[in-house]
Amino acid sequence: MHRPLLELRGLQRAYHTGASEVRALDGIDLSIDAGEFVAIMGQSGSGKSTLMNVLGCLDRPSAGQYRVDGVDVATLAPGALAALRRETFGFVFQRYHLMPDLSALDNVAIPAVYEGVARGERRDRAAALLTRLGMQDRLDHRPGQLSGGQQQRCSIARALMNGGQVILADEPTGALDSASGREVLEVLHGLHRDGHTIVLITHDAQVAQHADRIIELADGRVVRETVTRQARADQVPMRRSGASGGNRAAVALESLLMAGRSLAHNRLRTGLTMLGIVIGVASVVAMLAIGEGAKRQVIERINAMGTDLLSVKRGVAGVRGASRGIETLSAHDLGPINALPGVAMAVPETDRTVLVRQGNRDLLVPAVGTGESFPLVRDWPVRRGAFFNAEDVRRHAQVIVLGHNVARELYDAGTDPLGRFVIVNNAPFQVIGVMGPKGSTGGGTDRDYQMWMPHTTAATRVFGERYFRDITVKVKETSLLAPVERSVHALLVDRHGKEDFHIRNQSDLIEKANEAQNTLSYLLASIAVISLVVGGIGVMNIMLVSVTERTREIGIRMAVGARGGDVLIQFLTEAIVVCIIGGLVGVALGVAGALFTGRLTGWMTVFTAAPVLLAFGSAVATGVVFGFLPARKAARLDPVDALVRE
Ligand code: ADP
Ligand code: MG
Repeated sequence: MHRPLLELRGLQRAYHTGASEVRALDGIDLSIDAGEFVAIMGQSGSGKSTLMNVLGCLDRPSAGQYRVDGVDVATLAPGALAALRRETFGFVFQRYHLMPDLSALDNVAIPAVYEGVARGERRDRAAALLTRLGMQDRLDHRPGQLSGGQQQRCSIARALMNGGQVILADEPTGALDSASGREVLEVLHGLHRDGHTIVLITHDAQVAQHADRIIELADGRVVRETVTRQARADQVPMRRSGASGGNRAAVALESLLMAGRSLAHNRLRTGLTMLGIVIGVASVVAMLAIGEGAKRQVIERINAMGTDLLSVKRGVAGVRGASRGIETLSAHDLGPINALPGVAMAVPETDRTVLVRQGNRDLLVPAVGTGESFPLVRDWPVRRGAFFNAEDVRRHAQVIVLGHNVARELYDAGTDPLGRFVIVNNAPFQVIGVMGPKGSTGGGTDRDYQMWMPHTTAATRVFGERYFRDITVKVKETSLLAPVERSVHALLVDRHGKEDFHIRNQSDLIEKANEAQNTLSYLLASIAVISLVVGGIGVMNIMLVSVTERTREIGIRMAVGARGGDVLIQFLTEAIVVCIIGGLVGVALGVAGALFTGRLTGWMTVFTAAPVLLAFGSAVATGVVFGFLPARKAARLDPVDALVRE
């Protein structure tokens, strides 16, 4: 039984604009056989383009039926419709609809991308088609470098790329001079002879004469049908391709190339788009490198203080201000601690700010009451003179050792302070030594702006308090730290009858420093997340604009058979590529920035892989998350709407 290739029954297509309804197609019954050459003719606005869009499955009818080789297209899923457009139909548009950035060859090859054809084969086939249409010398020209007739031949070659069994040509000669128009019609005749079904849409009666059958439309209805020539009897059966769809990997690779081209084309915009990502990634990398450097520095300082030290402090650990007024840790504890096995020496420290007077100079200086082993325990050499000895401590000697900066402020450069007297809280003290400079701690206290006296003298003559702030215990070997800590603890609990003190060792301090640093890192990381989100919103914004701008490109891609998923991949790839490049630039800038800052300030910078990977990974994730919305918007565009908008 005879079955037409394309069959319309009572087909309607209405457009709704506001309250009014335009019936562009109003009950069309039409059959087109395989191998026919049909012209559809009518005035402008009669519904020809609408009919072609329905025939080519770019548009769906509002009512009625459309069957392609017996299959009702209303029953087909979007993917199957895309396959029909890709494999069966070939579109030729009045305005060619070529992509301006691609060469003739690449334009022709696009439909095969979505068919999953390998690149080499694609290009060979495109070159062969262009050669067949007399374009062999123009393969690498861009559309802008081609004449109208050449562009139209290029678009015909594209229509043939995947076979193009049915060529749908909407006013293919409308934009051409008469000579080029004749050439294009010749090409269509040639294709007809080769077995292609041709549907030629035109408002020009002379052009329509080229067809075997002319169907005239007016106001969306068929008003006349004329057979000019007897159609060939030999029916060409519809070819069905076995391929059910393109190969996604080929599409992804192609998307990567397209993304590169499109980004390179808009360099300034691409740069601005990735700016947020660059700044976000660079700041994470730089800040964490500087933070890590600061941490290492603190740990180094703590280690320099000695890993063989225990610090016994009064009060209970973790209770702020608990040490004030607690009467514990006295000179009586010192002897027993010193006597414990494994203890090298124990040194008490208590400090008060006191008034020191020399001549007519008055200074407020922190005074530290301590023991004779202080320079040894603290690894802090005396520069001039000597530290006080055990005898000085025993007999409450009124001797004092000045910090480097205190000596500088009390005495003029030429004066030797050794042997001279200063007045501390009305008591005369003899200067017996000046400490070497030590610099300031991380906390900003100037360690060279202190002075030291025997703790016995401090207790009786200056502070009026017999209790120590802390006792530093130096063990004989680092390995003895833990057992000595236990025995000091047991001894003091035994002596005091309660635990009114706490013991710290270096690893506690390092842990504290680590904790502080980690808090800082979390803070920095959250700032970085915020800036990446802001960067991501920037990417999304630009991508949305780009989708709107490239609506026509999306329409063309869909007309030649791209599925929604292919378009999604394309735009998503673009967003991800922007973010990857932004991430790489950001990492480079961050490293450079941290090194530069380190140079400038003398801070230590330490690069570890984790923050770099984290920042880079977040940038890529940002691309995926914020690229998705624009990509989906592009994928959901209706091919007709996309093509109509110009
Ligand atoms: P032709 O191609 O024969 O010039 P069209 O098929 O483009 O005619 O248009 C047929 C009718 O449908 C016209 O009246 C036109 O204004 C209307 N039309 C076409 N496309 C749209 C649309 N997207 N929205 C609203 N009306 C439309
Ligand atoms: Mg039209």
